[in-house]
Amino acid sequence: MTVSTIYYSASLSPWKASLKPLLTSGNWSADWQAFSALSEVPVGALTLMLDSDLTHDEQPLVGARRVLMLVEHWSLEASLKWSALGAEACESQKDHERIAGCLVFMLSQRDMSRVSAQESDHMLQTVIDAVPIPIFFKDELHVYRGCNQAFSQHIGLPVEKIVNHSVYDVAPKHLADIYYEADQNLLASGGKQVYEAKVKSSSGEESEIEFNKAVFYKKNGDKGGQVGAMLNITERNQLMRQLERASLTDPLTGIGNRREFDIAVKRARELSLPEASPSLLIIDIDHFKQINDEFGHDGGDQALQFIVKTLQSVLPNQGSLYRIGGEEFYLLLEQTSLEAAHEFAEHIRAYLPTQPFIFRGVRLNITMSIGVVELNAKKSLDGMLKQVDQALYQAKHLGRNRVCLAKA
Ligand code: GH3
Ligand code: MG
Ligand code: MG
Repeated sequence: MTVSTIYYSASLSPWKASLKPLLTSGNWSADWQAFSALSEVPVGALTLMLDSDLTHDEQPLVGARRVLMLVEHWSLEASLKWSALGAEACESQKDHERIAGCLVFMLSQRDMSRVSAQESDHMLQTVIDAVPIPIFFKDELHVYRGCNQAFSQHIGLPVEKIVNHSVYDVAPKHLADIYYEADQNLLASGGKQVYEAKVKSSSGEESEIEFNKAVFYKKNGDKGGQVGAMLNITERNQLMRQLERASLTDPLTGIGNRREFDIAVKRARELSLPEASPSLLIIDIDHFKQINDEFGHDGGDQALQFIVKTLQSVLPNQGSLYRIGGEEFYLLLEQTSLEAAHEFAEHIRAYLPTQPFIFRGVRLNITMSIGVVELNAKKSLDGMLKQVDQALYQAKHLGRNRVCLAKA
C-alpha cells in the first residue's frame, strides 16, 4: 500500500470520512493535512480544494502545486478555466467517487514522474550551469521550471527551492507582483524583451541588470513560457558614466568644458522665462603668457587651478564656470539680467587681484578682462557668442583688467 499526503482546504473536513474508504479500496492510503491558505501547502504537493476557498491573490500558487479543484457545478468551461490557471484536474464537489478516482490517478502519476529525468535534461542543465550569467525559465503559469547555479546563487536559494516554485513561493509578495506583471506582459506580447532594472542580490548588493527575456513555444504553437538571462551591467554602466563625466570635464581644473557649457546653456535658455534670461561672462586672463614665462608651464597650470578655485569661491547659486580654451572661461549666470551680470563681473574683476597667487614664494596679482552679454531667447546663440567675444576684445584693447558689455 502506498502512503501519500493529501492537502485539503479546511472546509472539506467533513468529506474525509467518505473519501478515505474509497481510496483504501483502491489500495491507496493517504495522510490528510488540512490547510486554510494555499500558501501553506508545500510546492508540488497533491492538493484538494474548493474553488470558493481560493482567494484571487493565491491564484498564482496553483500552478506550483498539484491541485484537484472542486467546483459546485462542473462544466467544461469551469474545467478549462482551472486548467488554464494550472490546476491538474477539476471535478464536481458532489461526486465523491469521481474525486477519489481522480486522486488515485494523480497519486499514481506522481510515482511515474520520479523516473522521468532524461539525459538531455542533464546535458542542458550542465550547459546552463557552465554559464556564469543567471538564467531561468518559467512556464506559462509563472512557475520556475529550470534555472542554473548562477541564478540560484543570485537569489540565495538552492535550485530545488526554485524549480517548480511559483514566483510567489520564491520572492516576497511586493517583488513577486512586479515579476508576475512583467511576465504576463511579455507572455501577452510574445517575442523578446530587453530592459534594465536595479536588483538586490541575496547578499544585499545592488546591481544594474539587463534582463533579456524571450517567450518560447510548445510544439502545438501555444506559448510555453519564457526564458530569461540576467546580465550584470553595473560595471559597464559605471564606466559609461565615468566616460561621459570625463568627456564633459576639464582635467586640469575639474570644471566643465566647452561640451558641458553647450549642454548647460541650452538647458538654461529652454528653462528661462522671457523676463529672466540668463547672462554670460567671457573671461580671459591678462598677460598669461608672462605667467608661463616667469613660472614655467607647471606654474601656469597651478595659476589656472588657483584662478578657478578663487572664482568658484564667489560663484552665486545660479552661476557655473566652464574652461573653454587655454586661459579662457565662460561664466553662465542663470536668470540674471545684464545689469546684475555686469555688477557681478565688476565684483570678480576687482576681487581676483586681491587674492595673490603664490608660486615658490613669489606673489603675483592676476587680473582678467571680461565681456558680458545677456542671452536673449529670441537671438541666435552663435551671434551672441560673437558679440561677447568682441566685448572681451574691446576690454583687452582698452588696456585689460576691465569689463565691457556686448553691443545690443
Ligand atoms: P592677453 O592679455 O592678451 O590675453 O595676453 P595673454 O598672454 O594671456 O595672451 P593669450 O590669451 O593669447 O595667451 C594665452 C596663453 O596661455 C597661451 C598659452 O601658452 C597659455 N596656455 C594655454 N593653455 C594653457 C595651459 O593649459 N597651461 C598653461 N600653463 N598655459 C596655457
Ligand atoms: Mg589672455
Ligand atoms: Mg586667451
